[in-house]
Amino acid sequence: MSWFRRTRPPRVRRQKKKEIPDGLWLKCDKCGEIIYRKELLQNLSICTKCGFHFRINSRQYVEILLDDGAIEEIDADLATTDPLGFPDYRAKLREAQTRTGLREGITSGRGRIGGHPVVFAVTDFEFMGGSMGSLVGEKVARAIRLATQERLPLIIVTASGGGMRMQEGILSLMQMAEPSAALGDLGRSRIPYIVVLTDPTMAGVMASFASLGDVILAEPGALLGFAGPRVIQQTIGEELPPGFQRSEFLLEHGMIDKVVSRKELKATIANILDFFGIDRRAEPHERDELRATE
Ligand SMILES: [Zn+2]
Repeated sequence: MSWFRRTRPPRVRRQKKKEIPDGLWLKCDKCGEIIYRKELLQNLSICTKCGFHFRINSRQYVEILLDDGAIEEIDADLATTDPLGFPDYRAKLREAQTRTGLREGITSGRGRIGGHPVVFAVTDFEFMGGSMGSLVGEKVARAIRLATQERLPLIIVTASGGGMRMQEGILSLMQMAEPSAALGDLGRSRIPYIVVLTDPTMAGVMASFASLGDVILAEPGALLGFAGPRVIQQTIGEELPPGFQRSEFLLEHGMIDKVVSRKELKATIANILDFFGIDRRAEPHERDELRATE
């Protein structure tokens, strides 16, 4: 027997999953309470005992945040390609598509929040970790350009733990620039951009459109940052403070504007739009006419 043969398979440490497993009951990751699944869903997937926010998908955010849960989708027909011929990428895409029923890890379009017409986009952690490939970046950029053209406030919800999509290599990294440049135009047009960071938002997504909001909101306890805590710890060789890279820590250090419970999210966004003086009812073309008479 050769000396290098493994007698046992290597132990792989898996991260605790925070998605809600199937079944009637489930255990809260934070407080350990056994919760009735139906009750949790009615509570927007927030633990009834400790307030822990379970991850939810893009459809649920559309349902919770947009009036009547309605979105008029744009670019829904665009499809991701495999530009580098990366091994297994097509199979992984197909698997994610079948499992989530989505074509890509982002949904974008027009909708209303508290009566305000908005352009809305949301990434989905269930689709390859919400990572940003060429198409996700393109759809974010198109949503931003639509908001600029129609002079509608832009709301983006992120759940992108994967950062950039490694199967698309440099082509995905290049997409950090396009939404960022488009946001520059949006800002110069004086149209507000509100971003909602949810667990987790990391890496290239955080380093591009996720951190460029005029107002940056975050759900409680979300993991938010560029490099992950383990990488930082190994690089600097020091213990990190408790709560590092969680929403509350970032708020304390001035990186975000407000930590908002999922239950308050819609009302908070609507209030901010009120504050910016965005007309609740007017359609884009009516707003143009209003401006013409000013
Ligand atoms: Zn709990």
